[in-house]
Amino acid sequence: MGDSSGGPGGLGLPDQELHIGGVRVAARSGVLFDNLNPATAALLCRVHMADAGDVSHAVAAAQAALGDWRRRSGMERGRILRRAADILRARNAEIARLEVLDTGKPISEAIAVDVLSGADALEYFGSIAAGLTGEHIDLGQSFVYTRREALGVCVGIGAWNYPIQIACWKAAPALACGNTMVFKPSELTPVTALCLADALTEAGLPPGVFNVVQGDHRTGQALVRHPGVAKVSLTGEVGTGRTVMREAAATLKHVTMELGGKSPLIVFADADLDNAVTAAMLANFYTQGEVCSNGTRVFVEEGLRDRFVEALVARVKLLKVGDPLDPATHVGALISQGHMERVLDFVAEGERQGARLAVGGARAPDLPGWFVAPAVFDHCTDDMRIVREEIFGPVMSVLSFTSEREVLSRANGTEFGLSAGVFTRDLQRGHRLAAELEAGMVWLNTYNVTPVEMPFGGVKQSGLGRENGHAAIAHYSQLKSVYVELGDVANPYPVPGND
Ligand code: NAP
Repeated sequence: MGDSSGGPGGLGLPDQELHIGGVRVAARSGVLFDNLNPATAALLCRVHMADAGDVSHAVAAAQAALGDWRRRSGMERGRILRRAADILRARNAEIARLEVLDTGKPISEAIAVDVLSGADALEYFGSIAAGLTGEHIDLGQSFVYTRREALGVCVGIGAWNYPIQIACWKAAPALACGNTMVFKPSELTPVTALCLADALTEAGLPPGVFNVVQGDHRTGQALVRHPGVAKVSLTGEVGTGRTVMREAAATLKHVTMELGGKSPLIVFADADLDNAVTAAMLANFYTQGEVCSNGTRVFVEEGLRDRFVEALVARVKLLKVGDPLDPATHVGALISQGHMERVLDFVAEGERQGARLAVGGARAPDLPGWFVAPAVFDHCTDDMRIVREEIFGPVMSVLSFTSEREVLSRANGTEFGLSAGVFTRDLQRGHRLAAELEAGMVWLNTYNVTPVEMPFGGVKQSGLGRENGHAAIAHYSQLKSVYVELGDVANPYPVPGND
């Protein structure tokens, strides 16, 4: 997928099609929509919009491929996934650049994380595919064995912040377990799911096992409602999760929900200050703050608060906001104009409600795209909107606390439960809090590190199910119990001549 010669500023891409049955196809709908580059606000490419007919086409291709794929050995399926991982790694620079054009995130991040973490998922699930087994249960004169079987056609629906990583995190376990998949990227970031489709095809994946349909929430809705689909895995907002789960219930589909958060990062006075500040910056400004697991409520123990904020502000001032293709850039563009305006509204609301804006928070002048300088609010209180609601942008709220019991109850006082972080040198306190924090993931003395081996997902309103780790296998497979009788059938009924 190269640049088209006529693109704006030389950065335009060809029209993006659907990927169905192993090949690129035009949408039967005949409709195309525009996809913009967040850093320039210019047209990046036009995208084929899949309607209900296109969705049925893709689901039919996935159904047709299912029988052969699920009957292959795990070893064979895994080999193809691992080959695809190698292909993605070899194309890291090229795909990372496309991800930058599509998302606005800095190239320094995309080249280090986005494609490579997707490749990790393909390698990890490719490596454990051959080891997926059921169990044997001895019953004396009989026995039961369980078969771990595929669910069927799975649908993946992605958010726009980590497009290729999300596609890989869903496709890799699904395919390892013998399912086939139809994946819909966010309409805002349609490009790199097709790079994954190419890598899988070149690795030898049979046609129809992984398909990509493009489109907006209507395309997603058609997928979720399709009776031929067995499971939906969504990454998105809590509200979207509720809608998708309700729609999926009509045909009793399995669901995995990776939803939003407003996670606490708790820094005790005994913490290593430099590490805690670095973690708070990573937990709020990586990918312009567009990360679901971000620790946006930074609780700092009263005695450390002033020193923490001083060190933090000095370092945030050094962050370079600007051209995401420049390797020196730390903070890129927000995904859309509407999202940027929403983030700026939150900043204004924070000031209105009495928080102190210590640094940042303004739209970057002289840049054509949707850039907001990383913002740190001090003197925040739990009832402020910036502290209660997910902003999904570079806005950090610093709060202070005086006791462990107090901070635990305030940290848990939210409907969300995706993640949490604790900085302390007190081992017992760290593990005590890890047990009591209402979150799917807790980091002790670090933040937002998400290796593929670690189960990823939330509790409360932040989601259901887990991605990554062995835990993901349970969400992409089902058990069949087979009872085998070695003796006679126990007969409770009379037999003529035997009474
Ligand atoms: P979103 O608006 O909820 O959209 C997510 C996906 O769902 C998009 O592909 C969207 O399509 C689709 N969609 C929307 N309505 C639908 C419906 N009724 N039926 C089926 N599909 C539908 O979320 P977003 O703005 O893209 O992403 C940001 C959110 O994702 C944040 O809340 C963030 O916390 C969350 N997130 C969570 C995780 C996690 O792992 N927990 C990771 C990343 C992001 P279109 O947008 O194309 O219309």
